[in-house]
Amino acid sequence: MKSILVTGGTGFIGSHTVLELLANNYQVVVMDNLRNSKIESLKRVEKLSNMHVDFHKIDLLDKPALSGLFNKYKFDGVIHFAGLKAVGESVEKPLLYYTNNITGTLNLCEVMQENQVKNLVFSSSATVYGNPDQSPLTENESLSAVNPYGQTKLTIEFILKDLQHADSDWNISLLRYFNPVGAHKSGDIGEDPHGIPNNLMPFITQVAVGKLKELSVFGNDYPTPDGTGIRDYIHVVDVAIGHIKALEKLREKPGLVTYNLGTGKGSSVLDMIQAFENANSVKIPYKFAPRRPGDAAICYADVSKAERELNWKAKYSLQEMCRDAWNWQTKNPTGFD
Ligand code: NAD
Ligand code: UDP
Repeated sequence: MKSILVTGGTGFIGSHTVLELLANNYQVVVMDNLRNSKIESLKRVEKLSNMHVDFHKIDLLDKPALSGLFNKYKFDGVIHFAGLKAVGESVEKPLLYYTNNITGTLNLCEVMQENQVKNLVFSSSATVYGNPDQSPLTENESLSAVNPYGQTKLTIEFILKDLQHADSDWNISLLRYFNPVGAHKSGDIGEDPHGIPNNLMPFITQVAVGKLKELSVFGNDYPTPDGTGIRDYIHVVDVAIGHIKALEKLREKPGLVTYNLGTGKGSSVLDMIQAFENANSVKIPYKFAPRRPGDAAICYADVSKAERELNWKAKYSLQEMCRDAWNWQTKNPTGFD
């Protein structure tokens, strides 16, 4: 399996994964509609790898264009990152999210099927565990959705399960990411959110660089040791390497498999602030604010299945995630602009 189409390959996780694919001698074609990313990310990947990557500006909703792409190349498999991911926006614009993420994935699967390309790695999320009341979470935990974004991930998981059940030639890996953060160690690629970030790490880096005044810590009355929410932060390069392992697994024709990609360790918001301050010798001004609606108190992964079956284990520490996120932010204070 050498020729891989990466949908959403100019985005945050996609760009880091393309770099790892190139380092592992895969031939890579990227498609993205550039709605939430810039072509500059791929130019940086090309520079870092010293390799060229074919890029096609295509929307997944444009099925004829997608078919044209599959006529042009002979792919062995697809890594499917493309999708919208902002929880708040999904609550305001559910139809946009259902159409983009679900119809987009249906189009992709139909075109793959028509072209006998039946190896797929899909970007799922820990959001499919809903608002869990215990952690660590194994892949067998019950599933639910607490917002339209989560509902799209859950629905796509079900669609892909039905597809594989109906046609056992399909090999599908559902990767449930926990909280990907950090950046490539070069500081040349990283997370470039539009506007004010929703997620903790980009918010912290923008406070540190002086773009934002202070961090609001959402809730200090959770049933956790310091009262703030606990998550499983994982370096984006570890997530990217997880995709290489998932592709290798597909070669064994495993049918449909599901893996958590996390570190298995929970860190609170205050732990993150402290790790960032220690790693980078900067101060992060913060204040406590009310809980953010819909947030779980604690969410971290049981990663033993991925360790056992993919021979994969996250290797970067919290310090390294904070160091690399800061390196990216200081080298690129305005992102890819
Ligand atoms: P990202 O927004 O940086 O990348 C997604 C890419 O998909 C963007 O470049 C965007 O332009 C593209 N895209 C969106 N809709 C498209 C369409 N209709 N046609 C073509 N391209 C389209 O996001 P990311 O953080 O790299 O996330 C990648 C995937 O992983 C997403 O599916 C996301 O839901 C999932 N995920 C992300 C996280 C996270 O915290 N970053 C956690 C769990 C799961
Ligand atoms: N968080 C926070 N302030 C922010 C953004 C996030 O306190 O400005 C907290 C949030 O309540 C959660 C943790 O940081 O406990 C991680 O939030 P993020 O949005 O990054 O990830 P998710 O909630 O999707 O796991």
